[in-house]
Amino acid sequence: MPIQKICCIGAGYVGGPTCSVIALKCPDIKVTVVDKSQERIDQWNSEKLPIYEPGLYDVVKQRRGENLFFSTDIDNAIKEADLIFISVNTPTKTFGNGKGRAADLKYVESAARMIAEVANSSKIVVEKSTVPVRAAESISNILTANTFNKPNVKFQILSNPEFLAEGTAINDLLYADRVLIGGEDSAEGHAAIEELCKVYERWLPRKNILTTNTWSSELSKLAANAFLAQRISSINSLSAVCETTGADVSEVARAVGWDSRIGPKFLQASIGFGGSCFKKDILNLVYICEGLNLPEVAAYWQQVIDMNDYQKSRFSAKVIESLFNTVTDKRITLLGFAFKKDTGDTRESPAIDVAKTLLDEGAKLHVYDPKVEHSQILEDLTHPQVTEEPEHVRKSLTIHSDPYEATAGTHAIVLCTEWDEFVSLDYQRIYEGMMKPAYVFDGRKILDHQKLQSIGFIVQTIGKRLSR
Ligand code: NAD
Repeated sequence: MPIQKICCIGAGYVGGPTCSVIALKCPDIKVTVVDKSQERIDQWNSEKLPIYEPGLYDVVKQRRGENLFFSTDIDNAIKEADLIFISVNTPTKTFGNGKGRAADLKYVESAARMIAEVANSSKIVVEKSTVPVRAAESISNILTANTFNKPNVKFQILSNPEFLAEGTAINDLLYADRVLIGGEDSAEGHAAIEELCKVYERWLPRKNILTTNTWSSELSKLAANAFLAQRISSINSLSAVCETTGADVSEVARAVGWDSRIGPKFLQASIGFGGSCFKKDILNLVYICEGLNLPEVAAYWQQVIDMNDYQKSRFSAKVIESLFNTVTDKRITLLGFAFKKDTGDTRESPAIDVAKTLLDEGAKLHVYDPKVEHSQILEDLTHPQVTEEPEHVRKSLTIHSDPYEATAGTHAIVLCTEWDEFVSLDYQRIYEGMMKPAYVFDGRKILDHQKLQSIGFIVQTIGKRLSR
């Protein structure tokens, strides 16, 4: 029987948008997104969604209350569903005095236990969360061991990792060039894959759906993120070479990416990658390799993260060095705090590292971001992993709702997120209100450097020496 009811456990950046698009494209399927957080569910049911994502609200508004529901009644949604997405967070956990880092599957495990406890009919259970390879085996063990007294309840576990990118999630889902579904190589496994294919085929061509065995699918998601991050670290490593030789990293990226075997995407040098996924998924891969006794492979991927950390600290050091080697009591303005444009998400944002360094060095930090909640910025910068002195941070930090207010009287602008609105600010006006010499550090390479120089700014960027 075709899928009639879908439940998604986890109403986050993935579960919310993915299920909204499924509800939009499959009006005859009832889609219920559940979460243990009442606050998150209340937000999904309100005018102000818990996440900012272009186009999302329009989709939610069309389907909410029709065939799209957001609820904390997890048991009921599980019971009635034919297919259940597990879309919970899979953060990194540390162990062994902080030396070891691996994916923490406690939320996936608890979702699996909830399914086992309340399911009274057979289900297709789909890993949407990014998980280590062979996680489906653990999920299957939990489900079967906890339903041994329900012989009519059977589960098929599929891996269907999500490839959306925050900031373009709705577009990515509506026009996905690749849907990956992994399943067991058995008649039941193939049937389950087919059911999920039929859901996606409502709006995507079959040729865009790739089916594999479960383990290939799980590993492919980690590999895809590792490859993307590796390209960023590769070009960033060359940006340091450019700055000392006179080469221009944008020209190098263009020349390298012109080769059709390499291609131009993900070759933009910057202060480094952020977001909840790249670092976490590479750490996950590294941990798997170590567990498989493949230390050279683990070291290879670890270097992608180390390069990213180096890039962030190199950029922060450049800011301090340029400001006469001291930022103590100097007003410095961060433009952008989200990890990328068009999202309010700050998880692993490079801006946090830059801000931390500047605050540690005694700067008076002023921050403006068009979408990140002020409370989130404060929470990120006073987090115990970021500072041992939250009071000092509170005293040294001012968060603004207006870019001109944020830059008035400042010594330096440090651009951390590539928001479009930063390109069209009135820099003449900003310059006039700033301390002199007035500095701009363009960590995303989006500004017109010549124009800024002609106004009077001293400009520094990544991967290019700018003559004054
Ligand atoms: P998120 O933190 O935004 O959302 C996860 C939600 O799951 C939270 O609201 C949390 O309350 C809920 N949750 C956790 N345990 C629960 C439980 N037992 N019952 C009910 N709700 C529970 O996370 P996210 O960004 O949506 O990521 C989810 C997964 O998708 C992760 O594995 C991530 O790696 C992967 N992923 C994320 C992205 C991205 O861009 N954010 C892209 C692709 C894949």
